[in-house]
Amino acid sequence: MDFAYDDQNIFAKILRGEIPNKTVYENDHALAFEDIAPQAPVHVLIIPKGAYVSLDHFARDASAEDQAGFMQAVAEVCRITDVGAGFRAIANTRTHGVQDVPHYHMHILGGRQLGRMLQG
Ligand code: 5GP
Repeated sequence: MDFAYDDQNIFAKILRGEIPNKTVYENDHALAFEDIAPQAPVHVLIIPKGAYVSLDHFARDASAEDQAGFMQAVAEVCRITDVGAGFRAIANTRTHGVQDVPHYHMHILGGRQLGRMLQG
């Protein structure tokens, strides 16, 4: 699989500080920020700081340190946003997954009953 990365995507611009974001948490490996169009009371995006287009790209090629740092950010976002009642983690991927931004991101959605997983 060829995971060609376009460094002009919107999340790359956020990482470079060219576009502002509402940061929820940050470490050396990942940045978490509020989604600009939230679909639930909690809607946070967690992105790696490295150039990965998708979850499968990140899982294949990211270092153990980057992967651990990303998962630490997931834990911190869940703690900070207080989603103890439950949440959904989503990684939309490529065409069938309807991925809009080609920089790997995990959505964390919560704060209300989210319903069943798939609607269509
Ligand atoms: P995808 O469909 O790729 O899984 O999700 C992309 C998400 O990025 C969408 O939920 C969309 O609202 C969010 N998004 C797009 N542009 C921006 C932006 O400039 N800032 C922030 N914070 N979120 C964005």
